[in-house]
Amino acid sequence: MGFTSKILHADRRNLIEHGSIHKPVHTAVTYAYDDARDLAAVFQGKQSGYTYGRQVNPTVTALQEKISLMEGGVATAAFATGMAAIGTTLFALLRNGDHFVSSSFLFGNTNSLFNTFATQGIEVTFVDATSTDAVAAAINDKTRLVFVETIANPRTQIADLAGIGALCSEKSLVYFVDNTMTTPYLFQPRTVNASLIINSLTKYIGGHANALGGAVTETGLYDWSGFPNIYDHYKQGEVSHWAITQIRKKGLRDLGASLGPESAHHISIGSDTLALRMDRACENAQQLVRHLSAHKKVKKIHYPGLQDHPQHERSNSLFRHHGALFSIELADDIDCFDFINKLDLVICSSNLGDTRSLAIPVAHSIYHEMGAARRELMGIDDSLVRFSIGIEDIEDLLADFEQALAQS
Ligand SMILES: *Cc1c(COP(=O)(O)O)cnc(C)c1O
Repeated sequence: MGFTSKILHADRRNLIEHGSIHKPVHTAVTYAYDDARDLAAVFQGKQSGYTYGRQVNPTVTALQEKISLMEGGVATAAFATGMAAIGTTLFALLRNGDHFVSSSFLFGNTNSLFNTFATQGIEVTFVDATSTDAVAAAINDKTRLVFVETIANPRTQIADLAGIGALCSEKSLVYFVDNTMTTPYLFQPRTVNASLIINSLTKYIGGHANALGGAVTETGLYDWSGFPNIYDHYKQGEVSHWAITQIRKKGLRDLGASLGPESAHHISIGSDTLALRMDRACENAQQLVRHLSAHKKVKKIHYPGLQDHPQHERSNSLFRHHGALFSIELADDIDCFDFINKLDLVICSSNLGDTRSLAIPVAHSIYHEMGAARRELMGIDDSLVRFSIGIEDIEDLLADFEQALAQS
């Protein structure tokens, strides 16, 4: 089945109460058992079932199965946010004295989180992940994991996803890929040998900026029997599930950043149209970029769909489309705040992956806290404006950019 048919009918693969056509919102926090032995069997992992809402909920389970289907993975754990998914996973899998390698082109809060891990005895080395050699050079005998994003925001650098995947296999390292910007519709990280995939469900997958959520998907490709940090207790059942079990127990259960059932429901309904929205938003972005690249008030555009983007060929070969996010540097005499203020349809807002088009002056907002030195390393110019393009009618978007530039 195609991507959309599969996810539209995902919930119905299991029996749904009353013949409901999608999984309803289950709000109960706890579950009753007629036989105390059944409750014990569920706690001991001998029987599947629901115990307590922090660990598991039927509406959330249905969403997790949907994400696994999208990613072609074996299991998924959902979290309250994308950040919770990343932080909880690293907390559950890494120990004091471990080291990991990360792309230096990162979502700002992920960058901040990794620096905090470094203060807790888990070392991180940031490298230019567009180059596999740079990743290889940072690996030492304490290295357990490599973390990359697919298309980085806001400069749209693309990690050498296939090359790093091969390197991780060769070195038996966990390969943890943030697929938020591409979504499983544009790209499945399992095809480049990812071990674990994180998606912020808040962005394109939910798609409507009405619920926060995150997910970690186990691809089943990593041999956890050779990973030193799995507790004996979780070395049960299939080896491919050991890590996700440990993430659920040591991470989700013990830290408690659980996804609520109402949010899971919003995200699930939003995800039904992921492919349609991505096709439209990416096409809109491509057309806007084509128009803007000829505009004299635009100095530079960063978008993987442009021929002169440094990883254009990589984007062509890996992704279905080049994404719906681009950033521009304006001509020197234009104030980026004034330009954003002249936009009428496009909203000035910090989110991305919404149905609506959004703009933000990155250096002065989401990347302000990291400081000028780190911004320069990440290639973030003071005049950089990032756009997350939505699904509006292209004529209206073109007209809005045109009038805002004309007035700037
Ligand atoms: C937004 C985002 C996150 C964090 O997701 P939240 O749901 O906002 O916590 C992580 N990675 C990337 C690439 C993101 O864009």
